Amino acid sequence: AKEQGKNSLKLYHTGINIQTYRAFILQNDLRKAIERDELSLYYQPRLNLETGSIDSVEALVRWNHPHWGLILPSEFIPIAEETGLIVNMSDWVMRTACVQIRQWKATKQATLSRLRVSINFSAQQFMQRDFFDKLEALQQDTGANPEDIEIEITEYTLFGGNPDILSKLSILRDIGISISIDDFGAGYSSLNCLMNFPKDTLKIDKSIIQRLSDKSSDSITMVSAIITLAGSMNMSVIAEGVENGEQLQILQRIGCKAIQGYLFCPPVPPEELEHFIQNYDQP
Ligand code: C2E
Ligand code: CA
Ligand code: CA
Ligand code: CA
Repeated sequence: AKEQGKNSLKLYHTGINIQTYRAFILQNDLRKAIERDELSLYYQPRLNLETGSIDSVEALVRWNHPHWGLILPSEFIPIAEETGLIVNMSDWVMRTACVQIRQWKATKQATLSRLRVSINFSAQQFMQRDFFDKLEALQQDTGANPEDIEIEITEYTLFGGNPDILSKLSILRDIGISISIDDFGAGYSSLNCLMNFPKDTLKIDKSIIQRLSDKSSDSITMVSAIITLAGSMNMSVIAEGVENGEQLQILQRIGCKAIQGYLFCPPVPPEELEHFIQNYDQP
């Protein structure tokens, strides 16, 4: 019995418990995070390789926790999904992005006034009954133009078993919102299934882009094939996670028209994005 006590004490001091403890705390705190204004949106610009312009930015949520500091979505989105808090969080994200885009549209700065914003969507958002009522209210409150909004959904969301996702996406598209397939190529992409969904853009997953190198002709062939495929389906392509010049050069060579990644700019707070764009427009 004595030995056992010793062992459990040992276990108590391992990292596993600290992680569990942290997840427990975060789950509790996430409920209050929105009211307490601890969430913020960062924005990552995409570079249009044909024109050299910045046409859109992706909104990425961050949590500034009073005790743990800046927390990335990979840690709290799973908690939000599990607890259902994702719905509230997503409403906050949508509203904040819409207010922001409206604000940028109103400026005289050329790039900002033409900017579109891309928002990550979770499966649970689509399951809400009042999904479209909320959307309409949002549009009325913020004055955001649907043409300036893009939503990003993963295959998991598409094929996760939500029966009316197809019709919901069609309505969104009719309203004027564009649809991107996120993380394309990362999972079990069934092209056959993808064909049925309304969509505008394929975002090639960063795990594929990270393998791009002149030393790997297979990786180049694969990305080329995706670009050709997208083109023949009338879709545009964004390569995400572009981190170095070699990847950029290959992408340019094989006809990729838009990139996103640390090489060009990481996700940054809105003021920093404004700064980045101003310097970019007038070097
Ligand atoms: P994602 O939608 O695939 O977003 C791209 C992720 O790649 C972001 O991570 C971004 O910071 C990161 N990234 C950008 N450029 C590079 C690069 O060059 N190299 C590498 N290694 N990474 C790069 P982040 O911001 O940590 O977000 C992670 C995921 O969390 C997102 O993946 C998305 O699935 C989810 N997420 C973020 N914001 C939201 C949101 O508002 N709502 C929902 N439902 N999910 C969100
Ligand atoms: Ca995304
Ligand atoms: Ca992605
Ligand atoms: Ca992802």
